[in-house]
Amino acid sequence: MKAFIDQQRVFFNSNQTKDLDFRIDQLQKLKSLLLSNQNRLNEAIYADFGKSPFETFTNEFGLVFLDIDEACRKLKKWAKRKRVRTNWVNFPAKSYIIPEPLGVSLIIGAWNYPYQLSLAPAIAAIAAGNTVILKPSELPSNTSKILAELINNSFDPGFFRVVEGGVDETSALLEQRFDKIFFTGSTNVGRIVYQAAAKHLTPVTLELGGKSPAIFTEGANLKMSVKRLIWAKFLNSGQTCIAPDYVLLPKSMKDAFLKLAKAEIEQASYAVENGNYIRIINDRNIERLKKLIDKEKIYFGGEILEQERIIQPTLMHHVTFDDAVMQEEIFGPILPVITYESLEGAISEVKKREKPLSCYVFTNDTFLKNKLLNELSFGGGAVNEAIMHISNSRLPFGGVGQSGMGSYHGEAGFKTFSHYKSILEKATWFETKLKYPPYSEGKLKWIKRLMGL
Ligand code: NAD
Repeated sequence: MKAFIDQQRVFFNSNQTKDLDFRIDQLQKLKSLLLSNQNRLNEAIYADFGKSPFETFTNEFGLVFLDIDEACRKLKKWAKRKRVRTNWVNFPAKSYIIPEPLGVSLIIGAWNYPYQLSLAPAIAAIAAGNTVILKPSELPSNTSKILAELINNSFDPGFFRVVEGGVDETSALLEQRFDKIFFTGSTNVGRIVYQAAAKHLTPVTLELGGKSPAIFTEGANLKMSVKRLIWAKFLNSGQTCIAPDYVLLPKSMKDAFLKLAKAEIEQASYAVENGNYIRIINDRNIERLKKLIDKEKIYFGGEILEQERIIQPTLMHHVTFDDAVMQEEIFGPILPVITYESLEGAISEVKKREKPLSCYVFTNDTFLKNKLLNELSFGGGAVNEAIMHISNSRLPFGGVGQSGMGSYHGEAGFKTFSHYKSILEKATWFETKLKYPPYSEGKLKWIKRLMGL
């Protein structure tokens, strides 16, 4: 691992990545590589967990291509040095800020959107002028393998290299010194990454998870809200970091909600053979999810096909915060519905828990919308929608507290992989005596007068 990093440090120090045209060329090259290998990339992800070409395009490559296009279009603007006003103390001078790449970056990906979660941070890192060592998740082994093959055969390994592997390889990488680590995954592994980075004082972005609530208020447009919510929840079989984890709604809305939710699931006719339902990633997760389903509390679904690693979309009712399903991030196709007596009570329950990655507010009431957005802390979210905030690259994407630190997408990604170097450039034709010794009462008086004291 050390040799890989040394090689990238040499490449970085050659200053090739400082050239904006180099960065744009590399991003275009990545886009062409992915486009010309679409069929193989589709086959690999289908073999891993049944993701259809439709979803592979909309949820993985579509976002990746938009990211590349935006970075190429806006890079020159993002990378420009920015003038700021100079204060009177430094007269005569100019002041400006130069964005510079951090250096050799390590990107560790999660398995649930294996292309997008590996490539989107890599695009941000390249746009900002870093070299990249990418370690995709080992669980979808076919996607990890094809990413390694395509990238390692096409890019200079001093600039962009994929290292495959699991815990051992990642631990070996984490022992090394990087200039930036970008991690997507669970909160527990996030802690390990943060500790390893602390040894070298390496800056870290952590994109983690959590239990993201969907909160309904009285008077919400139930039909439209349920349609959007059910789509967002069961996309990728619930294996989405920003999936609505559970629903909180007024008691009076429960029956109507459940009826509509069931109808929505039936209408979508989720099935592998329809190309619109995705397998659970592995047997360990099937076992984990099985334990979260309380058979007594199933309103709809609950069927598990262990061999095929499929869990039918499942709605649970009569759920309380003490149930097993409410003790961990679900990360699967199970939607628990909890009713509340008062919105205050619901807010207080959410506040007792860790800050989630997302929160979704379904309401037509401006006062209640603002109350929820103001009082709850979470990474990001949506009003009368779920998940789609991720698709707007002008919205920085990231968590807060246990759901992560730092953000990316669009310019936020460029900033995440940059250092902003502040420069004061002084003219030489003038100097005051005020700051120089010998110090005197007179000089101090002048300084105070200039400061308005
Ligand atoms: P994970 O933490 O198990 O694995 C993530 C990465 O860490 C993988 O590349 C894995 O190889 C590596 N890893 C695992 N154990 C390690 C260890 N002990 N030491 C060093 N490296 C290790 O997460 P996952 O199962 O791939 O993903 C699920 C979690 O990720 C969920 O909590 C989900 O919410 C979160 N997630 C967050 C985002 C986001 O953008 N915020 C996106 C996707 C997933």
